[in-house]
Amino acid sequence: MINLNELEKSDPRIAEAVKKELKRQRESVELIASENFVSIPVLEAMGTWLTNKYSEGYPHKRYYGGNQFIDISEDLAIGRAKLLFDAEHANVQPHAGSQANMEVYFALLNLKDKILGMKLDHGGHLTHGSPVNFSGKFYNFVSYGISKETERLDMDEVRKIALKEKPKMILAGYSAYPRNLDFREFREIADEVGAYLMADVAHFAGIIAARKHMMPFPYCDVVTTTTHKTLRGPRGAIILSMNEDRLKQKYHPDSKKNMARMIDSAVFPGMQGGPLDHMIAAKAVAFGEALKPEFKDYIEQVLKNAKALAEGLIDNGFKLISDGTDNHLMLIDLTNKGVAGKQAETALDEAGITCNKNMVPFDTRSPFDPSGIRIGTPAITTRGFKEDDMKIIADLMNKVIENINKKNVRENVRQDILNLCKKYPLYSEIKV
Ligand SMILES: *Cc1c(COP(=O)(O)O)cnc(C)c1O
Repeated sequence: MINLNELEKSDPRIAEAVKKELKRQRESVELIASENFVSIPVLEAMGTWLTNKYSEGYPHKRYYGGNQFIDISEDLAIGRAKLLFDAEHANVQPHAGSQANMEVYFALLNLKDKILGMKLDHGGHLTHGSPVNFSGKFYNFVSYGISKETERLDMDEVRKIALKEKPKMILAGYSAYPRNLDFREFREIADEVGAYLMADVAHFAGIIAARKHMMPFPYCDVVTTTTHKTLRGPRGAIILSMNEDRLKQKYHPDSKKNMARMIDSAVFPGMQGGPLDHMIAAKAVAFGEALKPEFKDYIEQVLKNAKALAEGLIDNGFKLISDGTDNHLMLIDLTNKGVAGKQAETALDEAGITCNKNMVPFDTRSPFDPSGIRIGTPAITTRGFKEDDMKIIADLMNKVIENINKKNVRENVRQDILNLCKKYPLYSEIKV
């Protein structure tokens, strides 16, 4: 059982911060679309002595002795990751989603090669070519976006841009797009221009694992995902790929290398040193949980809650990008409410509702103070929230936004949120 007894004795200031963060998580409605609450077994695996080990290399091919038990753990993580995503190869060592993306670019491309990804202010991620990120500095990113009318991806447009730009890689994936992706269509375009197709499914990996979204394989050549978002594992990432021979034939006819090996050597020794063995064990535990039928029920509820929250918000006059959601997240343009994203984030946080300010497509404001907020249902669904609660949350959000200058309204909402949170205890097994 997790407790902080020794930590409290040896470092009370850190113990205090850790305890306060648990209280904050327990007493607020967590709507940040990229967050979740891991299980106690995942927490337990993370807090183990596996962190003491050096295990550079891969299972059964290590540069250090004494890795017989680390190998068991990493083999399990790899096997379960392959099952979850129907992949033929899995690398479970990337420390985070950004590293995983860097490692794939490094494995398959040369510096300054052209990559076609989603515009950042239309839902793409920093690692999809932001000028302040390594991706924008080391690679030549060009982008596609959503259509102004439908606020959805227009695949004819993606195709046109691909034919014109002839990228070496096409990137399908997002951090803030509320609709499903069609990997088959992306594949056709990639084949037309002879590009690799990479999917970055960081946000919706859990939905894929539960088989509620089109599977990325066999359409994609390589897939990266974080493990801590809808997949509900520890912080970290994995890289998945397809059959080595098929890809070797296609892209590297003269090469002795293959995709799996190129990716493995880009991770180690290319970009990382020793893997985080305690985190890999925790990934294995989370993947085991995601393979269970209960995880499918969880993801179904995430999707139902997102639909219910979207409806509740629309009923309250909120403008949702693309007028709804297929997945776990929503992007809200607050322009019609006369409130900016940053102001909304702060006011909602004071009222106990946590979300993040976010650019909306065709935003006229700046990234530091954009027009919208992004919200999602993975975390609150883990706590047990259901559709009826979504209606309450939508009404409370509206109350805060419509009374943006009234502190007493926020205080009243804060009380309602506390009462709501009491209905769904978080980590009640942990007594600190
Ligand atoms: C979250 C996210 C990442 C990065 O993950 P980190 O672990 O924060 O580095 C990469 N790509 C997409 C699409 C994401 O949403």
